[in-house]
Amino acid sequence: MKDFASLTIHEDLQKRLQRNGLSSPTPVQEKAIPLLLAGKDVVAQAQTGTGKTLAFVLPILQHINPDLPHIQALIVAPTRELAVQITGEIEKLRTPDIHVLAVYGGQDVERQIKKLAGATHIVVGTPGRLLDHMRRKTIDVSDISTLVLDEADQMLHIGFLSEVETIIEKTSPDRQTALFSATMPGEIRALAKRYMKKPENVQIKASQI
Ligand code: ADP
Ligand code: ADP
Ligand code: MG
Repeated sequence: MKDFASLTIHEDLQKRLQRNGLSSPTPVQEKAIPLLLAGKDVVAQAQTGTGKTLAFVLPILQHINPDLPHIQALIVAPTRELAVQITGEIEKLRTPDIHVLAVYGGQDVERQIKKLAGATHIVVGTPGRLLDHMRRKTIDVSDISTLVLDEADQMLHIGFLSEVETIIEKTSPDRQTALFSATMPGEIRALAKRYMKKPENVQIKASQI
């Protein structure tokens, strides 16, 4: 079985994974992590519970430059609960100099704006509130390196697709884009085709888990 070292995860990040009881990658992590570390766009399909979060979180953590005080990675999630969960996974594994902020509706905007005034490297948010911040110019994603669309099928089902497109269009055209989903409806395939650069496809069938 492969370990995180064979996926070229840095030693300090490997140690932090180990401390959190994570010793070997799941199948979707094993396939997606090397592609993302190589800078490729990735469309990954695997069912719920297969470890898709760390498949994008680990390459992001490895690529962040804490010395650069701007948003380098944006993760868009369909629900508050998921945004909070992803942020928690990042908090567990980050070094203290990497700053992550969750932004979602229902939270005090002014408090979020205060936090955004400090150096934030990773933003995890739901579409409505993200767009709100972008319009207020309290979030600037024009210089991000990585954009992740997580649980893309849920975004479609909730009716967030046009918001997601508006967000994508505000991000750097040089970004790397990753899309994770349990299912791949036609609308999501079309989104990937429209906004991603020759994406590599990762598909984990239920029999491989
Ligand atoms: P998905 O996004 O595919 O639904 P998650 O990323 O939420 O799945 O992960 C599901 C569960 O598996 C979480 O509790 C997570 O901590 C755990 N997990 C993820 N990667 C690993 C791993 N490499 N080893 C053990 N457990 C893992
Ligand atoms: P707002 O700022 O208007 O709240 P957000 O982007 O923060 O905009 O809203 C995301 C929230 O929308 C999620 O937390 C989610 O709970 C909620 N939501 C709306 N419709 C649905 C739905 N059909 N299924 C699940 N969540 C939904
Ligand atoms: Mg997930």
